Amino acid sequence: MPRLAGRICVVTGAARGIGRAIASRFHQEGGRVLVTDVDAAAGQAAAAELGSRFLPLDVRQEADWARLAEAVPVADVVVNNAGVTGFEGGPTAHDPEHVSLTAWREVHRVNLDGTFLGCRYAIGAMKGKGAGSIINISSRSGMVGIPGAAAYASSKAAVRNHTKSVALYCAQQGWRIRCNSIHPGAILTPMWDAMLGEPAEREQNMAEITADTPLKRFGTPDEVAAVALLLASDEAAYMTGAELSVDGGLLAGSAASPK
Ligand code: NDP
Repeated sequence: MPRLAGRICVVTGAARGIGRAIASRFHQEGGRVLVTDVDAAAGQAAAAELGSRFLPLDVRQEADWARLAEAVPVADVVVNNAGVTGFEGGPTAHDPEHVSLTAWREVHRVNLDGTFLGCRYAIGAMKGKGAGSIINISSRSGMVGIPGAAAYASSKAAVRNHTKSVALYCAQQGWRIRCNSIHPGAILTPMWDAMLGEPAEREQNMAEITADTPLKRFGTPDEVAAVALLLASDEAAYMTGAELSVDGGLLAGSAASPK
């Protein structure tokens, strides 16, 4: 029996990267997947490949969520995956001293406001049945400080905490609506393109980035999708408010830990 047979699954930012891998995994497990993304052309293409539906959705826009609620009033699984680092346009100052207020707010608008709106939509779409699974894609950067990406780290830490508020709220209402967060480490997706530099420097930069990762490599989108599938399925029925790291062991210790 497929693990998500007939379940209605909404995934944000699913045109590529981790979101696309999650959409694909859910589809393989019998889910009725709705691919959403701000990039309509890429989102359409991803949905067509999967044979699933696409709806344009900019997670920052309340009106887009309202349109989704009209089109898809009932959902079983919602994955709040869409996110930005702030480096999409190339290197720029994101340290606590130099990051501009505009850049700070833009990262929070997508990562935090988008997740807040996604959780609110999900609760509305799940409470009729009184059951469902909300999965928020935070980051290992939501657990530790990142001096050069302060807005990203702050927004992901807020996603981690909001997940717990949602989990507790839903439990208080007597619903079996679970809400959990996933904390990926470095996962090789197009999000890294702007940070890995020119093709000639890429391998070297990747080795440097993963030098402190115990498993010494980038993770894959499928490795995150496998954990999302667990949280989406009934096998995780007793998990809510939890945070799961998918980071090659990065947060298990520190470079200074005794051998
Ligand atoms: P990608 O950049 O590869 O994909 C993100 C997708 O989200 C893109 O299709 C992008 O569209 C879309 N998107 C961006 N802004 C919005 C928006 N406002 N509304 C809807 N969709 C939007 O990222 P990843 O797959 O790497 O990351 C997915 C999630 O995982 C993010 O939340 C990220 O922070 C998190 N994460 C990723 C890690 C990694 O190493 N890759 C590590 C830890 C966490 P467009 O291309 O048009 O911008």
